[in-house]
Amino acid sequence: MIIEKLKKNGFLVFVGAIYLVLIFINTEKAMLSVNNSWYYIKEMLIIMPVVFLLTSLLEAWIPKKVIMSNLGEKSGFKGSLISILLGSISAGPIYAAFPICKTLIKKGASISNIVVILSTWAVIKVPMLANEAKFLSPKFMATRWVLTTIAILIMGYIVSSLVRKEDIPMEEEKIEEGAIIVKSEFCIGCGVCEKMVPEHFKIEGNKVVVINDKVTEETEEKVKNIQEKCPTKAIQAGLTYGRP
Ligand code: SF4
Repeated sequence: MIIEKLKKNGFLVFVGAIYLVLIFINTEKAMLSVNNSWYYIKEMLIIMPVVFLLTSLLEAWIPKKVIMSNLGEKSGFKGSLISILLGSISAGPIYAAFPICKTLIKKGASISNIVVILSTWAVIKVPMLANEAKFLSPKFMATRWVLTTIAILIMGYIVSSLVRKEDIPMEEEKIEEGAIIVKSEFCIGCGVCEKMVPEHFKIEGNKVVVINDKVTEETEEKVKNIQEKCPTKAIQAGLTYGRP
């Protein structure tokens, strides 16, 4: 149990070990490091609850289709502009951006737009630009902004051709074996599931409802297909394909 926990938190153990070694080699530097770490832990304890609240609101209130049309694969130049704007007006340290970006990916944002948001958040935030113009001149700031923005857009394109969404770990919700659920906030009411598997799905209003949430032997293959075909990946089923 303890070994498992240590293994799971390998990096933390590694850092702790470095502190221990440092205490014996140079106590003064070790104490300085501990104080710095404590400063950042306190900062994170203040910032992260707000970030988690923001990600929950994003998860619950912004429909997937809104994220997909504004920041998704097909959002094009509009998506890049929105991403630049989002990153530029952000506040807080860059580590606060990671959980938010992960939620955006889950909701359909493209990898290239995520790179743009993270990069603008890190290097061309509005308060940073204002200080830059004050200390280094508006011309310096504007030139750097233009060149940095071009570089960020190119970087977004390169990263999106090297990294796929499947490479990013996402926690899957645990679904009971044989059960079907639909994340209605993701559903765009296209009706494909009702057409393909009327035994389980029915459109009501502009959303789908699950009329029978237990997969049967006869419908298992069809449910598997619709899970893949649903354009917003709103359907989840606890299936165990290839069961003997
Ligand atoms: S296929 Fe997906 S998006 Fe379309 S109605 Fe069914 S659940 Fe909703």
